[in-house]
Amino acid sequence: MEKSEWTQSMRVRTAVVMTLAGILPIIICHIIVFTSSGQTLDDLFHWIPLYIPLLIVLLLIYWWLADFILRPVTQLLSATTKLMTMDIRQRLEVGAHEPIETRELRKSFNKLLNNLEESLNIQCQFVADASHELRTPLTSIQGYTKLLLRRGSNIDANLLGEALQTISDESGRLIRLVSDLLQLARADAGQAIISQLEVVDLRDVLMSVEDTVMVIAPEQIEVKFIVPQTSMYVNADADRLKQVFLNLTNNAIKATQAGGKVTVTLRATSGQAIIRVIDTGIGIAPADQQRIFDRFYRVERSRTRSRLYGGGTGLGLAIALTIIKAHGGTIELESELNKGSTFTVKLPITDAPGKAQVAGHGAPPSPGSGSPSSTGNHPTIS
Ligand code: ADP
Repeated sequence: MEKSEWTQSMRVRTAVVMTLAGILPIIICHIIVFTSSGQTLDDLFHWIPLYIPLLIVLLLIYWWLADFILRPVTQLLSATTKLMTMDIRQRLEVGAHEPIETRELRKSFNKLLNNLEESLNIQCQFVADASHELRTPLTSIQGYTKLLLRRGSNIDANLLGEALQTISDESGRLIRLVSDLLQLARADAGQAIISQLEVVDLRDVLMSVEDTVMVIAPEQIEVKFIVPQTSMYVNADADRLKQVFLNLTNNAIKATQAGGKVTVTLRATSGQAIIRVIDTGIGIAPADQQRIFDRFYRVERSRTRSRLYGGGTGLGLAIALTIIKAHGGTIELESELNKGSTFTVKLPITDAPGKAQVAGHGAPPSPGSGSPSSTGNHPTIS
């Protein structure tokens, strides 16, 4: 239905309802007066022709009044219709003299548009960052492949080794990046990032992390896992939890210089399992701490990409946060530059071992979820 037809039909219905509401009490009063004064219904029927002009007059008055009453709604309708074809950055103008209902409706619309614009900006930024991250290793692979093709069999053995190593490293990086992106994209699409929740002993998870980490940790760094003697159970997807603690411990090792220490501890307080990954490494500046869980955020961009800390995708902590939230837990960071960092993960403890429910509540937060940003300066539509 066209907008003008819609407003006309609304006006007609309002005018008819108001006319009926106006004429009915008159007819009822008429009937009461007639019956109480002893007159017959036939006498009443003689009056019927007089109702017709009254009906027409009332209809005309209410037709005019309906336009007056519905004007804010029709204005709102035309403003929102304009929005459909316009820029998402535009906002509805909120008039000071407008009735409160439509004013509130306009404000709600503007809030909705703020949220939409914010999500769109986050998505655009994400696509731009992802493209940039994908392009870097691809450029490197392409460069070395072209070099190998150009030189053919005349290539020096060292250069050949270097080229193949780089191609292998960069394709490994691409695979990591694509699988991280896939994991986040699935989570954004509302698919549970965790699959099967079962009662898991956190000590087993941390011991398995320890086994992996000990193989890759440099000898010059002391890596210690301190876990209690008794089991500590949580409802969890063990593989995803292992992924989180591996990421935190790997980050800690990469951030720690020779002679430094990385300690992973597990303890329980008031129904919560507390896992701490503590390092004596380079630390994280307060400004970076705010953004460390953002997608693609890497501190080394601003602190000159260190040899110690290169090659990451910048997605590890974003994924870790999504996984821990899906488990009903939290991650906190305390850090001091040049002194070290502590990542604290808290997870709700469960009592008895036994199968728990399949994860359905694993829907992760959307990128940049949280309170909507302020309106900012937007062009308005009245
Ligand atoms: P990446 O895959 O690049 O490691 P993460 O999301 O895991 O991505 O980490 C984001 C950034 O946070 C890292 O690039 C690093 O600069 C910084 N970071 C993470 N953990 C630590 C830590 N323990 N000490 C210092 N910096 C850290």
